[in-house]
Amino acid sequence: MDYENRIYLSPPHIGSDELLLVGDAIATNWIAPLGPHVEAFEAEAAACVGATGAVALSSGTAAIHLALRILGIGSGDVVFCSSLTFVASANPILYQGAMPVFIDSEPESWNMSPPALERALRDYAARGMVPKAIVAVNLYGQSADYDRLLAIAGRYGVPVVEDAAESLGATYRGQMSGTLGTLGVYSFNGNKIITTSGGGMLVSDDPKLLREARFLAAQARDPAVHYQHSMLGYNYRLSNVLAAIGRGQLRQLDDRIERRRAIHRRYEAALSRYPGVAFMPEAAYGRSNRWLTTITVDPAIAGITRDTILRELTARNIEARPVWKPLHLQPLFAGAPSFDHGPEGNTAERLFDCGLCLPSGSGLTPEEQQRVIDGIACCLSGAGAGRLARRD
Ligand SMILES: *Cc1c(COP(=O)(O)O)cnc(C)c1O
Repeated sequence: MDYENRIYLSPPHIGSDELLLVGDAIATNWIAPLGPHVEAFEAEAAACVGATGAVALSSGTAAIHLALRILGIGSGDVVFCSSLTFVASANPILYQGAMPVFIDSEPESWNMSPPALERALRDYAARGMVPKAIVAVNLYGQSADYDRLLAIAGRYGVPVVEDAAESLGATYRGQMSGTLGTLGVYSFNGNKIITTSGGGMLVSDDPKLLREARFLAAQARDPAVHYQHSMLGYNYRLSNVLAAIGRGQLRQLDDRIERRRAIHRRYEAALSRYPGVAFMPEAAYGRSNRWLTTITVDPAIAGITRDTILRELTARNIEARPVWKPLHLQPLFAGAPSFDHGPEGNTAERLFDCGLCLPSGSGLTPEEQQRVIDGIACCLSGAGAGRLARRD
């Protein structure tokens, strides 16, 4: 592969402060897990999103796992989860031996459908199986509709874990994404809007939950000098070196969002003229961080499928990806129940069939973006004639 000229979907974007901060961690011999950069990163992230507190962790997945653990989810419990998401949203449900039930997306935001959630809750409550938690995902940088979701969940007393792994810096009615649920989760994986190369964070306004998360993440060590343990814990804390990277990255967050939004605007200006091409909508209730620009291709109108574009981009050494495969279709979760948005069927399945995520990294240059646009435009403008023969 020609790595030199490859355009990636969402690569890391290092700023100017990271090297200085990592240099400090090394110069002061704080390369052990935990340390002053971890504490500072937690305080700065909590202040940035307006949460009471934060716990820095080794991954977003670890943060979701701890959230479920401290909410008391155990063997046989039911947990609802968005279906249209990365597998990491639901894996921790299985870690805890609980049973996932998948909730479809609404077309307006591509996030958890309030009517599907309501139907699922009514159905499960009628059988005496009210879920212990709901994992609601903010897809591709856009918040779900929490006024509606929290009102429904609240009627049944079910806490909501907000999987904001993709939506750091986005807002919902002026409030920062990740602070709407009982617990919020961020990821600093290498492909996210900011990165520590690998890491995550749990935020909450409940100091008791945060204390518990901090305790469990450091092997649940009782306050005794002789290493005493009464509860099952994990090694989930973030390293001081990686927290130093995170502090530098956090200072760039506004800039990274502006860049990703500008990339989205350029794609829209160049591609929305093609019939059959549509963009993931931005719901009126908030502002997306536009982590990934995502289009849908209607083959009946465009004359080509999403896969034609995907193949063309691959041939041009450009990384693009279909929209997440819905979790209720994953072999891992075979047999798990799923609730559709409405009688017209499953929104997530439809988006999986026709949705495509485009290179959206904040370091993408206008020239690189033009290469992506040319690749897509070439498929769409040729769709009327010879390219129809290549339809799949
Ligand atoms: C990336 C991601 C995660 C997992 O985060 P990691 O830090 O990679 O463990 C969870 N949920 C969603 C929606 C994600 O995109």
